Amino acid sequence: MAITKKQSAELARQAFEYAPAPEAIDHVKIQPRYGLFIGGRMVEAHSKKHFPTINPATEKTLSQVVDADEVDVDRAVKAAGKAFDSWARLSPSRRSRYLFRISRLLQERSRELAVVETMDGGKPIKESRDVDIPLSAAHFFYYAGWADKLEWAFPNRKPSPLGVAGQVIPWNFPLLMLAWKIAPALAAGNTVVLKPAETTPLSAMVFAEICMQAELPPGVVNIVTGAGKTGSLLVSHPGVKKVAFTGSTEVGKLIQRAIAGSGKRVTLELGGKAANIVFEDAPLDQAVEGIVNGIYFNQGHVCCAGSRLLVQESIAEPLLEKLKRRLSTLRLGDPLDKNTDIGAINSRAQLEKIQGLVDSGIEEGAELYQPDCVLPERGFWFPPSLFTNVSQSYRIAREEIFGPVLSVLTFRTPNEAVEKANNTPYGLSAGVWTDKGSRILWMAERLRAGVVWANTFNRFDPTSPFGGYKESGFGREGGVHGLLPYVNLN
Ligand code: NDP
Repeated sequence: MAITKKQSAELARQAFEYAPAPEAIDHVKIQPRYGLFIGGRMVEAHSKKHFPTINPATEKTLSQVVDADEVDVDRAVKAAGKAFDSWARLSPSRRSRYLFRISRLLQERSRELAVVETMDGGKPIKESRDVDIPLSAAHFFYYAGWADKLEWAFPNRKPSPLGVAGQVIPWNFPLLMLAWKIAPALAAGNTVVLKPAETTPLSAMVFAEICMQAELPPGVVNIVTGAGKTGSLLVSHPGVKKVAFTGSTEVGKLIQRAIAGSGKRVTLELGGKAANIVFEDAPLDQAVEGIVNGIYFNQGHVCCAGSRLLVQESIAEPLLEKLKRRLSTLRLGDPLDKNTDIGAINSRAQLEKIQGLVDSGIEEGAELYQPDCVLPERGFWFPPSLFTNVSQSYRIAREEIFGPVLSVLTFRTPNEAVEKANNTPYGLSAGVWTDKGSRILWMAERLRAGVVWANTFNRFDPTSPFGGYKESGFGREGGVHGLLPYVNLN
């Protein structure tokens, strides 16, 4: 017997009770204290200073890591400089083998890495297990394939490595950003010093163990932990020839100023405020899933998140109804539970930033919708949220919230959609939902965004270049394009 529309709405509203399904953590050994990975081994820091890294879902301390100082950074850059000559001269197929080996070890230790990533960062285990870790391994695998084919990557040119790369990464995809940075650098014959983010250093410490397991020559990869100061020491070190940074636009600008005139090569992957655009001919149920994936994946801590929904006016009502219903089925809670959709916010500071922007949205006149949702008592949490009645001038429509908060705007014509989508200082990504192929191409030509997804969102692949326009930064990571920032072409 067919069910009525009302019955189906009622069914969708019911949250099914799931039994707890926690991922086991007893196979993971997080050390109480870490040193720095310099010259192929873990060493004591000169700074003698440590700080705690906590689990944002429980606020419990997981480990103590080093706050590296100037001497520590200098040692790491010198170790990378010393390793450079032999690494750059090593036969490309041998370099390739090391990268394959790292990729394989990432796969072998994937369960452990997924748990560490989830405990240190707060993301749901199903995301670290199914997205972060497999993609990290795929990145090394992909660039392993390029290491001995650089002359084919740049036909009729002679590519040569630059030297030591200083790489600074954020906390939203700790291991994946490490892979995006280290794999192409090594494939092209450079050596690296990497600084992970203050709140998520642990997967980089496991990666240091993997480098030792892979018997990577000492000094080819070095990892120094610390806060922003350590990052600034690294990028301004005279021994660093190439800077790669992913993080906020504000810090990206600071870095650019700090290294101006030094001759260092630089790529910056910064913030975003992507438009996810739904036309009236789009398959609505599929679009709802894409919108949810676009903004609630990884608690919205995603630079290319679809944080502005642009929906054609004629379908705004049914689409929003479906979306709200879907929001009420999202499960927020223990990130280690395999059924969890929304994990913990990465840090107290980030939670305060999200709350501040949400408050500004309410003050400016937008209407907030949040499904009924019980937040755990400890830890940092924010329910999946959406704003309607949003004007383009509101802060929630202009600034990167970097949390599970969607701002909904409407449009009538394709031209208006393009105008609104491009009305932002950022230009990292966009999404288009429509039944018409020609409209996808028409939109993609006009959207000022590094990536335009069609009838999908937040899809990543190592073969595909990623990067921004305008204040979202410059340079590309991924694909053949991702090799270019790491070579001189003669
Ligand atoms: P940051 O840009 O401050 O952090 C990114 C990385 O840069 C971290 O490793 C950080 O160290 C380091 N860093 C900080 N200051 C300097 C400096 N002067 N020189 C060199 N490196 C530095 O981002 P936050 O973590 O503070 O997040 C703030 C906001 O940035 C978020 O709310 C979000 O809007 C945005 N963001 C955007 C990201 C993106 O991918 N587009 C990623 C992360 C944040 P440490 O963390 O140890 O202090």
